[in-house]
Amino acid sequence: MMARDLSPQATAKFKAQIEAHYAALLDEIESELRRSRRDSHVELAGRVRDMAEDSVADLVADLEIGDLVRHSDELFAIKEALDRIASGAYGTCVDCGEPIGLDRLNAQPTAKRCYVCKIKHESVVVAE
Ligand SMILES: [Zn+2]
Repeated sequence: MMARDLSPQATAKFKAQIEAHYAALLDEIESELRRSRRDSHVELAGRVRDMAEDSVADLVADLEIGDLVRHSDELFAIKEALDRIASGAYGTCVDCGEPIGLDRLNAQPTAKRCYVCKIKHESVVVAE
């Protein structure tokens, strides 16, 4: 396993980018929820308590679940990246243990796989 050559400065820069992305994502989710939810907050809370089948179906439709799933994937990737920064594993491929190229991290600071493993991983996912 090769040692990571990422400097503390470079790691701090990626961390700042990830945190900025996180803040922007939370803003986006909040405004989407506000937009898709025509009811007041109080009404929504009432509907969540009333777990009758129809209310739940309405609520899910209102929240535009597709977007939320996409956002939750992103949030999860952000959380993982911040965890890896905290543990010192950031910038190292989770599959092969080699350093992830700086160009790849620049393009996607939350990347957890090197380019080769990313392609492999995606082809496995598609094949399943
Ligand atoms: Zn790899």
